[in-house]
Order: sequence, then structure tokens, then C-alpha cells
Amino acid sequence: MLLKNLDVRIETHTLLAQYTTFRLGGPCRGIFHCQTPPQLEETIQQLIKENKEFILIGGGSNLVVCDEPLDCYVVRYVTDIPLIKQEGTTLTVSGSTLLDHCAFFAAQHGLKGLNCVTGIPGTIGGAVVGNAGAFGKQIGDVLTTATLMGPSGNKKTAAAANLYFTYRDSILKKTGDIVVDVTLSLAQDDASRLLEEREEILKIRREKHPDLCHEPCAGSFFRNIEPTSKAQRRQAAGWFLEQAGGKTLKVGGAMIYHKHANIIIKGSHCRSQDVYELSLQMANCVKEKFNLDLVREVRFVGKFHGMPSNVREIIW
Ligand SMILES: Cc1cc2nc3c(=O)[nH]c(=O)nc-3n(C[C@H](O)[C@H](O)[C@H](O)COP(=O)(O)OP(=O)(O)OC[C@H]3O[C@@H](n4cnc5c(N)ncnc54)[C@H](O)[C@@H]3O)c2cc1C
Repeated sequence: MLLKNLDVRIETHTLLAQYTTFRLGGPCRGIFHCQTPPQLEETIQQLIKENKEFILIGGGSNLVVCDEPLDCYVVRYVTDIPLIKQEGTTLTVSGSTLLDHCAFFAAQHGLKGLNCVTGIPGTIGGAVVGNAGAFGKQIGDVLTTATLMGPSGNKKTAAAANLYFTYRDSILKKTGDIVVDVTLSLAQDDASRLLEEREEILKIRREKHPDLCHEPCAGSFFRNIEPTSKAQRRQAAGWFLEQAGGKTLKVGGAMIYHKHANIIIKGSHCRSQDVYELSLQMANCVKEKFNLDLVREVRFVGKFHGMPSNVREIIW
């Protein structure tokens, strides 16, 4: 493939496991490492021009990639160097910037509104697609506009209202538009107070979440349960799973995190297929005990044995 921008590293024969927090995933046709908006734009336009099928990933922290080879290219849009431009209380951030780098930058510069995403793995782009957040707040609350790239490589600017943010969701999951960069509108606050709050959040997260170096995972597997007329607030999927005995479930090397019934972790010799099958058992046990249908938050990429054909995730 002809790329004028030679800084785009292209990797072949690499397992995608290297680029997912679950440390799972087989090979693909090739991985394009894009860090900046121009690199991304050139790569996508060239792939489209050459009719090459591809998927786009960020930090790979919300994915279960199949064990089998993926019959497509993967564009990985991640940068270790934050690409952030500040104008007063407005930040323009590349979709490749790590979410926590952006949260740290905001806190350091006395800008309030992003501490809720402190410590969440992945990129700004991935966070916008899934409206990532915690403690009842999410990225969609502070986003004003996003520069998107559509399936034919056309660039457009979308206002927040047109992204239809809801709980862990946005219209981008349906359109497949790529988040090139975003503008975030924050409020002035005291930097030392924000940094102190950040440390507290990081401490809570360290206590509650698996250590990705030793317990690879993709965070909460299922979304919390939408409020019913009885319960006015969203209820934790983990509570239902725990009550239904989900914590003892295990398939092959896939098991449940001992501190949280809604997190699957990768044990030794774990395959993606094990994770898929364990997730079915988790959903079944909640269905049997509470007659509730859990909705997945994590996205599957590729083919899984026994997966119904109407479950179409990022790619088949
Ligand atoms: C330990 C742990 C804790 C977590 N805690 C939380 C939490 O508290 N709250 C929360 O909301 N989530 C949490 N997550 C889930 C995850 O971190 C978020 O969903 C994150 O925003 C995903 O971003 P990513 O870059 O890793 O996306 P990926 O996993 O790479 O991709 C996810 C989806 O986004 C798409 N995508 C990625 N980048 C772009 C882009 N630039 N443009 C368009 N589409 C894109 C992909 O195609 C895919 O469909 C946690 C995960 C882990 C492992």
C-alpha cells in the first residue's frame, strides 16, 4: 500500500492480543499504527481507495477479539504523546490521545469536567463511541463537537446533540464514523483540588478493578440494568450476577474476577472463545434467576463458534 506519510508503522504477522487489554486476539492482514489525525486520514483514505477492508481500534480496552485470523486490516489510532490544544477552558484533543492523559492534563491545568474518566483505559475516540464514564458522569457531558470521518472517507463536524449520547452509548456505534478529534468544554477550577480528587479516584479504581498486568480483562462485561418503575436508578449488573451465583462460573481459562461478578479475567490458556462462552453462561444465570436480559458493554470482534448470525459486532 502506498502511503506518502512514512511515519505510519505497518505491522504484519502480529497477534492482536498485543493491542487489547484482555491480551486476546489472533492475527489480521496487517496493523496500521496511526497517532495523529493526518496519519489517520491518509491511511483511511488509502485503504478505502484500494478497497481494502479494515476495522479501527483504539486502546483495545473494550474488545474481545476472536482467536481465528481476522480477514481484514486493523487501523490502530493511539498516541502515547497527548495531542491536546488548549484555548481558555476549551480543549481540542485527538481521538488517539489516551483518555487518562487528557483527564490528567485537564486536572493539571485547573479544568473541571474530566475527573470522572480518570484511570479509565483506552483513547478519547473509544470513550466517545461508548460514552465512557464513571460516578454518574461521562465524556458526553463535556463534549461540544467532534470531527468525524465517514465510511467513504469524508470529513464532517458533528455537534454533541447529533451524537445522541446515552448511557454507555452513542450513534457512532451504529454509523461506524471514526472520531478524528473532539472539542471539550470544561470549567475553571482549582488545580490542586482537582489533582487531589484525581488521586482519590485512582485509589478507588486500584482497589476495585483488576490489575491489567496480572489480570487482563476488558472492564465491566455487561451494562448496568436500566431503571425500572420500582428501582428509580440504574442497578449494577454485578449485583444480579453475584446473587445468581455467577462468581463461580468458569469456562476454560476464562473466569470471574473475585472482587467483581461483572468482570471476566483471562486465566492461563484462556481463549477468546472461552470468554464468549462464559459470557453466555453469565447472561443465562441472570435470566434464569431474575428473568432479566443482560446487555453486553464489551464488543466482540470476528468469529466465535456458536454465535448467532444476528450478533454482528465490529466485523465478521
Ligand atoms: C480495567 C478496565 C476498567 C474500565 N473501566 C471503565 C469505566 O469505569 N467506565 C467506562 O465507561 N469504561 C470502562 N472500561 C472500558 C473501556 O476502557 C472504555 O470503553 C474505553 O472508552 C474504550 O476505549 P478504547 O480506545 O480502548 O476503545 P477500543 O476498545 O479500542 O474500541 C471500542 C470501540 O470503539 C471504537 N473506536 C475506538 N476508537 C475509535 C475512534 N477513534 N473512532 C471511532 N471508533 C473508535 C472501536 O471500533 C470499537 O467499536 C474499562 C476497561 C478496563 C479494561
